[in-house]
Amino acid sequence: MFVALPTSKSRIEACGGVRACALLAILAVTRGLELDDVDCPKCGIPHIDYSMMSHVKHFCGSCGSYFQGSRHGIGNPLLSFLEIEKNEIRNNSFACLNDFSVEEILACASKLGEEISNDDVADYLNKHAPKPESTIVQ
Ligand SMILES: [Zn+2]
Repeated sequence: MFVALPTSKSRIEACGGVRACALLAILAVTRGLELDDVDCPKCGIPHIDYSMMSHVKHFCGSCGSYFQGSRHGIGNPLLSFLEIEKNEIRNNSFACLNDFSVEEILACASKLGEEISNDDVADYLNKHAPKPESTIVQ
């Protein structure tokens, strides 16, 4: 079942803005992780994940409750906008909804008024490259 999610830009602003959400989305897709767009069912705040460990049970930073996502993934409200863009491109085909390229994410951010250069992306990915000895803390 496909459920249309609310796609107001304020949901992205509540999660740090277009730039932050787009860079986190790029970090996720370059690691082969899927995105999930979920609002906390208790307080209604859209969910953004900074952790790059795919999961289905999310912790709401606003109200402190745990809730179930729609699939294993990385919470990011940009997903709804990416899906709309991709579905327009694919003529309403819902194939590979979660298969986004860096270019598609940058184009989507640009449509939302945020220009992110390839140099910015490279810097961000370098800064967030996984370190061999690092442990993931939720
Ligand atoms: Zn909440």
